[in-house]
Amino acid sequence: MSKSQNSPIPLKYRPLTFNELIGQELVSQTIVNAIKMDRVANAYLLTGVRGVGKTTTARIIAKMLNCSSKNREELNFTPCSECENCIAITESRSVDVYEMDAASRTGISDIRELIEGVQYAPVSSKYKVYIIDEVHMLSTSAFNGLLKTLEEPPQHVKFIFATTEVRKIPTTILSRCQRYDLKRVEPEEMIIFLKKISENEKINYDTGSLKIIARAADGSVRDALSLLDQSIAFTDGNLSETKIKDMIGINNSEEIYELLNLIVGGDTNNSIAKINSFYDQGVDPSMIIRDLIVATHQIALIKINAEEGVKSSLTEKEFSEIKSLAENIEMPTITMLWQMLNKGLREISSAFSPISSIEMLVIRIAYLNSMENPDKILNEISNELKMVEKDTTKDVSAEDIEIDSKVKEIIDFFPGTKIETIEN
Ligand SMILES: [Zn+2]
Repeated sequence: MSKSQNSPIPLKYRPLTFNELIGQELVSQTIVNAIKMDRVANAYLLTGVRGVGKTTTARIIAKMLNCSSKNREELNFTPCSECENCIAITESRSVDVYEMDAASRTGISDIRELIEGVQYAPVSSKYKVYIIDEVHMLSTSAFNGLLKTLEEPPQHVKFIFATTEVRKIPTTILSRCQRYDLKRVEPEEMIIFLKKISENEKINYDTGSLKIIARAADGSVRDALSLLDQSIAFTDGNLSETKIKDMIGINNSEEIYELLNLIVGGDTNNSIAKINSFYDQGVDPSMIIRDLIVATHQIALIKINAEEGVKSSLTEKEFSEIKSLAENIEMPTITMLWQMLNKGLREISSAFSPISSIEMLVIRIAYLNSMENPDKILNEISNELKMVEKDTTKDVSAEDIEIDSKVKEIIDFFPGTKIETIEN
């Protein structure tokens, strides 16, 4: 990587060639082969979640198509990053590469303007390349305008589309594109990448700190790079697990485990106090539920001895904490937690007061968990209701069912349980 020493990390390590683009080897190999065999598609479609590298990949493809290096074969048809064309594309000033963000320009007139020049030959490259980001945002008439060109594009024209929502693209367009699904970068791969950069930058770090950054980035190289940049500034180049946790805050797994421990232990008062302290720090209540769901899933995996994936994504300290938590929670409680938390997550999105909603959720869980065999009770409710549902089309209430008073009490306390089991 021969970029200037003092530029910020995200800019300095933004991939310029496919070799530097981590996690997308399949895409690069396929396109290299197509260029070698002179079978370049007229249109490429790049899909994937945000931050996975779609626009970066689009620019790299544009460079592969237009690189004017004399050593193309020696470079195995990857862009040289040094010729006039490559540099112009990197700096977004190539006269033959047009970039458009469909999120802000959705109409037919925008597309018309864009493809007006399609008939004219490129100025200084082999191809005219049209990159359209968030292409699913185009209006129907804009798609129709584009389709005409896609059906019979001039030899010198290539399209590269990028999207986060492939289902919103008409099939007439899809069928004319070579599609590549860019995958999220796996945590293990991301950690290796971050290690390489930290060593290159002569940064002090411990593995725990990089694991936390990789996890917070959730598969996005862009997010990982900007978090690393922020971490270096925050810690003055001495990354430690504790400091990075302080910086990221929200993703502090240990605190989530502590909360889960309080909830399962029936300590409702302290659970609510903890939730409120998260809330005061600006954490979204639905985020707390999400984190609890993730932790519950991790515990279940540990319980069935499928802990490898959990281990690799957590720091040593976190893993030892969740492991001891797993030892203290029985499988029926995990099942109950899973059901209740997922239900809580659905409820909170439409709740009048999200913070009250999560408090009520914790109270319900503690109440249910204080009984013997909470999952048995939930199942019992579910079975009773299914039987009643088969017999009658009337609204079902606890009074219609001959079950013990404890279960009746629960049905009244968990009105959502009824609706959910009947839908099943
Ligand atoms: Zn080049």
